[in-house]
Amino acid sequence: MIKNRIKIYPKIIIMGPQGSGKGTQAELIAKKLSVPKIATGEIYRENIRRKTKLGAMAARIINKGNLMPNEITNGIMTKELKKPDAKKGYLVDGYPRNIEQAECLEKIAMPNFVIFLGARMPIIIQRISKRRECGNCKAIYHLINRPPKKSEICDKCGNELVQREDDKSAAIKRRLQIFQTQTKPLIARYKKMGIFHSYDGEKPILFVQKQIFRDLKKEELI
Ligand code: AMP
Repeated sequence: MIKNRIKIYPKIIIMGPQGSGKGTQAELIAKKLSVPKIATGEIYRENIRRKTKLGAMAARIINKGNLMPNEITNGIMTKELKKPDAKKGYLVDGYPRNIEQAECLEKIAMPNFVIFLGARMPIIIQRISKRRECGNCKAIYHLINRPPKKSEICDKCGNELVQREDDKSAAIKRRLQIFQTQTKPLIARYKKMGIFHSYDGEKPILFVQKQIFRDLKKEELI
C-alpha cells in the first residue's frame, strides 16, 4: 500500500534568554533545514548600521535594552513571512517576545515547533559580558571560550572586535528583566499548543543540536 504523506513544513520559533546560545543554534538549524532565518534583532542592527530612519529610532531604544514597539516589529515580521521563501518553513529568532507578537505570528503562519534554550543566570551574565562581535563581518567571539587568535581582532576579516552596546551591564539587566516578565509567559502558551521543546543551553552546541534534530524528526518536520 502506498502511504500518502503530506509534507509539513517546519515553522520554528527559537527562544531563550540572551546568552543561551540561541543565535548560534538558529544559524545552524536554518542552514540544515534550508529555511530562512528571520532574526528581528539582526534586522534592527542592520538598520542602525545603514543609518536608516528606523535605525535611528532603534539605536535609542535597543541600546537601553528596551523593546521596539510591537506595531513596528509585527509589521517587519509580516513582511518577511509573506516573502515566497518563507512559504516552505521558517525559523524566527528573537520573535515573538510577548503575547501580542505571538498572536500576530499565529495569524500569519502558525508555528509548529518551539525550541527553548535555558541557562542559569551566572552563566548568562558570564557569556554576555565576554561576548564580542566583529564590527565588519559580524562574527561572534567569546573572550574566554572562543577567543580570537589576535587580541580584539577578527580572525576572519582582521577588523576590530566590539562589544554590542546592549551587551553592556545596564542594558543586559533590562533585557533579562523583560525576558522574565514578557517573553517567559509564552512558554505556557506553547506548552498548551503541544509544540514546546526545552533544551539545556549550557550543554555543548553540537550536543544540543543533536537533541533538537532528534525531536524535529520525531515530529516529522525533517
Ligand atoms: P536580540 O538580538 O534578539 O537580543 O535583539 C536586540 C534588540 O532588538 C532587543 O533588545 C530589542 O530592543 C530589539 N528587538 C529584537 N527583537 C524584538 C522583538 N521581537 N520585539 C521588540 N524588540 C525587539
